Amino acid sequence: MTFKRILLKISGEALMGDNSYGISTEVIRFLSSEIKKVHDHGIEIAMVIGAGNIFRGVAGAAKGMDRGSADNMGMLGTVINSLAVQDGLETVGIPCKVMSAITMLNVCEPYERVKALDHLGNNRVVIFAAGTGNPYFTTDTAAVLRALEIKADVIMKATRVDGVYDKDPEVYPDAQRYTTLSYNKVLRDDLKVLDAAGISLARDNELPILVFNMKESDNITKAALGAEGIGSLISA
Ligand code: UDP
Repeated sequence: MTFKRILLKISGEALMGDNSYGISTEVIRFLSSEIKKVHDHGIEIAMVIGAGNIFRGVAGAAKGMDRGSADNMGMLGTVINSLAVQDGLETVGIPCKVMSAITMLNVCEPYERVKALDHLGNNRVVIFAAGTGNPYFTTDTAAVLRALEIKADVIMKATRVDGVYDKDPEVYPDAQRYTTLSYNKVLRDDLKVLDAAGISLARDNELPILVFNMKESDNITKAALGAEGIGSLISA
């Protein structure tokens, strides 16, 4: 099954590369060339990018900040990352619009669902920035929300490993990868793939989530084209 419209969720940390903070230009270049391959297949691409490489609200709150202010900082971090990815995509010739849930007209467009659909229909990649625009949420939940709003066929969640495992594969060599699993299993076993709010929203609306490794060349394209053996598919 080839997906016609995907929502690609990338964590902020994935943009750091080998650094411990910020944005790696090599990662942006690699990601852009990988997305170009998907775009060349005529697949519509929306993206949500996190901000763990810059700032997370919970970390600020743990140090005594007001959670609302800290989360606003986190959301602004996602705008920084979105602009970096937009620049990378435009450098390889892919038209791209950043639409933010927090209005900042001089920097990017405000999020508007109908306009986002128009961009996608006109071959533009759309990056949804600033999460949901509300504190106490994460970009995982924002990804599910936006994917539902634009009627994406799937959320493709890029991680460091090639899917969902029964235990941490970076710690346990005998960890087994699930090829398919249910939303309820993810919730019941508290598998750390997407936060519980995001998984519940996906479950209630039957939005499939494909968890896969983006670091391997061609993997985003293979996953978008529905190749067998890529990642773990979470569905009902
Ligand atoms: N955030 C928020 N509301 C949202 C999405 C994100 O307040 O709807 C803030 C929150 O502080 C979060 C930060 O933005 O910690 C970065 O998002 P996330 O932690 O999801 O980034 P990732 O882990 O994907 O890099």
